[in-house]
Amino acid sequence: MAELTDQQLLRYSRQIMLGEVDIAGQESLLDANVLIVGAGGLGAPVALYLAAAGVGELIIADDDHVEVSNLQRQIIHTQSRIGQTKVASAKAQLAEINPDVQVQTLCERLSPARLDELLPQVQAVVDCSDNFSTRFAINNACVRHKVPLVSGAAIRLEGQLAVFDSRRADSPCYRCLYEEQADENLSCAASGVLAPLVGIIGSAQALETLKLLAGFGDTLSGRIQFYDGKTGQWREMRLPRDPHCPVCG
Ligand SMILES: [Zn+2]
Repeated sequence: MAELTDQQLLRYSRQIMLGEVDIAGQESLLDANVLIVGAGGLGAPVALYLAAAGVGELIIADDDHVEVSNLQRQIIHTQSRIGQTKVASAKAQLAEINPDVQVQTLCERLSPARLDELLPQVQAVVDCSDNFSTRFAINNACVRHKVPLVSGAAIRLEGQLAVFDSRRADSPCYRCLYEEQADENLSCAASGVLAPLVGIIGSAQALETLKLLAGFGDTLSGRIQFYDGKTGQWREMRLPRDPHCPVCG
């Protein structure tokens, strides 16, 4: 593990001073590699916070381009980068925030074969995608490779958040929660979403990821949380493992 430089001690001083993180935790973050799937509403705060916090390497996958209708909530992109790929736009923004962080970009929808190639390299996957087929493919790969998955979703004024840590024997997976289903039109394009909602859920995903990487606190593994932006209420459910789950059972 590389020793922190004086510049790094200064840059990360406000989180190193937390007993939960300390120097060892910061070194773990700098040594970590995280896959972020999706560079949209959720992926934006996730990538910004993980880069700012000093996660050493980020792989960001998204096959889309920046459009004007994204800018209302996808705060990693800017007016001047409309038309660029989202991954190139995200990489440019992250370089402005923290040159310590290596960013690898993949302008593609990740196939199961590609996920199999990537997962052995990473310590966590953050699902910021917006469709069920990608979510199920990511979950399958995370269970196969025993890589923790930080899952988030946000639409209209509602969000949900969960961690599936298949390194733990009792952990459920995303498939324990949801039957495989076709992508209905439950997208932000069809249903709408209020700007800060994705910020709240994405920031919480970033926090769960930092806890997994630095190894402190209780992650949401085995629990799922729902946030209602209209009332400001969080609800939590315990999420048991389904012994008949076709993916992890
Ligand atoms: Zn399962």
